[in-house]
Amino acid sequence: MRFVLLGPPGAGKGTQAQILAKDLGLPQIATGDILRAALKEQTPLGKKAESYMNAGQLVPNEVVVGIIAERLKGADCREGFILDGFPRSVPQAEALDEILTQLGIRLDAVLSMSIDEKAVVERLAGRRICRSCQASYHVVFYPAEQENVCDKCGGELYQRDDDREETILNRLKVYADSTAPLIDYYSRKGLLQEVDGQGEISDITKALKAALGVG
Ligand code: AMP
Repeated sequence: MRFVLLGPPGAGKGTQAQILAKDLGLPQIATGDILRAALKEQTPLGKKAESYMNAGQLVPNEVVVGIIAERLKGADCREGFILDGFPRSVPQAEALDEILTQLGIRLDAVLSMSIDEKAVVERLAGRRICRSCQASYHVVFYPAEQENVCDKCGGELYQRDDDREETILNRLKVYADSTAPLIDYYSRKGLLQEVDGQGEISDITKALKAALGVG
């Protein structure tokens, strides 16, 4: 099964992708995680992406499209994958179409997770990420068992630089301008399913699975 999780920052794409990846045995491919790992290592890719990420802007297309083209060739993607945070604009979606055509595969679904703006700020401001495995937590809604320690790998939890309020507002604007048009793009292709991104994490997982026909 091959699908995309679409939605504004804070919609819960990463949290749900993490759960679905485990339950369905599929790799979670998150461009944001890949870029943050490159930034941490200060690779040329990370250095190139840094200023865009810190400003809440999209990293140039050629960078992220190159990452995805390589990643989707991985042996672990043969049975399927979950795209989380890619594509984020119509040109990226068109580039993805080309990559998939070259690989002789197609998307099965695009799940659009909706959430209102007030909830986004609340969610992102409380979000904490594991420095080692990138697992995502929330200080109130999804706390780690031991404060600031990852349940999965014991790594240290931290707050992302771009989860500050000014940057959050910028990211929401980028979403509205560049990413939201994908709702129309995928709906015209008959792939779009809308899922309410608010409520209990487990209920949202159920709704996503039902939309995928695996619930
Ligand atoms: P995320 O973890 O998905 O919220 O992504 C964090 C940041 O990484 C974004 O604000 C962008 O700066 C960058 N990024 C992640 N995915 C993409 C993408 N598909 N296109 C461009 N920039 C991206």
